[in-house]
Amino acid sequence: MLRIGLAMLQGARHEHEEALLASAMDLELDVEIVYLRSASDVDETIDSLVLPGGESTAMRKASTSEGLLDGIYSWMEHHSNRPVLGTCAGAILLAMPDGGRSPFIQAGISRNAWGRQRQSFEASVDVNLPLHESSNVRVARTADEFGHTPLAVDPLVNDGGETSFPGVFIRAPRFDTESVNCDVIARFGDEIVGVMDGSKCAVTFHPELTGDRRFHTWLLQQMLNQVPTN
Ligand code: GLN
Repeated sequence: MLRIGLAMLQGARHEHEEALLASAMDLELDVEIVYLRSASDVDETIDSLVLPGGESTAMRKASTSEGLLDGIYSWMEHHSNRPVLGTCAGAILLAMPDGGRSPFIQAGISRNAWGRQRQSFEASVDVNLPLHESSNVRVARTADEFGHTPLAVDPLVNDGGETSFPGVFIRAPRFDTESVNCDVIARFGDEIVGVMDGSKCAVTFHPELTGDRRFHTWLLQQMLNQVPTN
């Protein structure tokens, strides 16, 4: 049983959960989603983490009473090889942790940096994730219990190892290209919109709002690499 910690900070948590469970089913993995609400929930039995989007300042404030973010940061310091997926505000939390901690990804990031007209937009992004080939990750999704229908999955375009991904940017932050000192795994034109630093993946868009589960599948596959099988 693989335990995935989902930070209950704010934002699109339900969609992350659904994507993780669906990916786990595709890979025939037994997973448990653990809702993280306080620092004590983030213990060593957690094999990986998802930090969803939302409003990062609100997330920092909301976590103060239960010390959740602090617990998450300590967990990451103690388990530096366990995988973490941070989306949008989650990417900000990885790049700019509180409390004088060193960033968990070596990439500078600026909040709300797309200017007014482009605060929110959808665009096709080039993604190059280290995935095991056999995974079937592009299953279309149906409407959820709230009646949300996920965005259509782009037709698979294979262009020298990079494939397009439906990028949903919602008041997205922006990586400062000059300061990126780790692997680039997603680009939108000249912009870097996704990075990977060791086992930490940070993207400025919202893969959980689409039917494309490559990022969630990546997280699961990384967990398999980390967790000893017996
Ligand atoms: N604008 C938000 C922030 O700066 C991030 C938006 C998002 O997660 N969709 O925290």
